[in-house]
Amino acid sequence: MSVRTRKQERRGGVTEGTQRRREQSQQMGGDILKLPEGMESFSIESAGVIRIDVIPYKVGPGNPYAAPDTQYWERTFFIHRGVGVNEQWVVCPAKTLKKPCPICEEVSRMDKDPNADDEMAKALAPSRRMVLHVRDLKKDPDKVKIWHISHAYFGKAIDEALQAEYEDKENNKDNFCAESPGYYLKCQAETGWQGHGFSVERVDFVPRKEGLDQDILSQAVCLDKLLVIHTYDELKRMLHGTGPAEGSKKTKTGKDQTPAEETADTDLAGMDRTELKQYIKENNLDVKVFKNMSDDDIRDAITAVSEPEEPEGEEPEPEGAADEFDALDRTELKEYIKENKLEVKVFKNMSDDDIREAIRTAEGAGEEPEPEGEEPAGEPGEGDWAKEWPEEAEGEPEAEPEKPATRRRKK
Ligand SMILES: [Zn+2]
Repeated sequence: MSVRTRKQERRGGVTEGTQRRREQSQQMGGDILKLPEGMESFSIESAGVIRIDVIPYKVGPGNPYAAPDTQYWERTFFIHRGVGVNEQWVVCPAKTLKKPCPICEEVSRMDKDPNADDEMAKALAPSRRMVLHVRDLKKDPDKVKIWHISHAYFGKAIDEALQAEYEDKENNKDNFCAESPGYYLKCQAETGWQGHGFSVERVDFVPRKEGLDQDILSQAVCLDKLLVIHTYDELKRMLHGTGPAEGSKKTKTGKDQTPAEETADTDLAGMDRTELKQYIKENNLDVKVFKNMSDDDIRDAITAVSEPEEPEGEEPEPEGAADEFDALDRTELKEYIKENKLEVKVFKNMSDDDIREAIRTAEGAGEEPEPEGEEPAGEPGEGDWAKEWPEEAEGEPEAEPEKPATRRRKK
């Protein structure tokens, strides 16, 4: 279970890994949204003021706020997070399209079950999100991008702003994104919940100097057609940890790797968050993942608890050493003990040789010690899974309270 970060670097170089990582992170949203080719996604990169235009589009089927073929500016939908062992995000067909949803059924079953795992139920509860077109007036004013964001991180703020403007019926902003003259949005972004991402806390409408021109308007796509809707059976399989349907194109590459495939040659840089967590789990590593950790923090933590493949400084392995422990220094010996969960206590007055001796004794005492608390073979219990991973997907707030008073208005 060694981590061959250095070897990997030598073989593939950083470009390859970075490219893989970038591509895989793009696929992250791929189970919820399918972006048209060439369309980029938008995200807020720092706290502070951002100025964006929201670009209207011609509505397709199923939009809860606007009729097909009218002009409107967003698509609201609901997702379930933390689905199955891969903790996938999926669109909820029940709350989004009024179709049966096995995950909602499970949530309602858990609500009635006094023994159900509350954390698990909370993680699975549907969460409101929206997708819209924006252009960043400062950074990239010629490009229309897709913004996929939770209600709590943006929808709430714009609903409050629209509601406040509506107090004045003569001059409300329900037509803010109209082609001409319209308004752009001045958004105040703050660091999000538990340091994750950026949340828009305040929206102001600023009159545009000129209306949206055709170059911009024509970049808009039908947001209602971007949602990836899995079938009932696919969702059921995901929920119970057996993955999406066989042959489903929606399966993310790399998710179905067996532990054997991963241990041989581990490329941490190429793993996304889900895969990193999977790796920790499979190798029973002593690494806790918290919401405020970046993916790189997780990689560092894995590297820290993993035995280095080659000693730092390129020293050759001492030939003819009595056994592997002679080659390890004090720190490495302690790491070895920790990694193999040996019953060895290291005291200050022990020499390195004392430690080696203690390890040999502990190793000789029996076979490989079974790590404690290991999952039984097969699927991990879902409750255990939720307990073991303190992190919720992407660290955004859970199902935010609905506020009927700030309901988005139709045009
Ligand atoms: Zn659902």
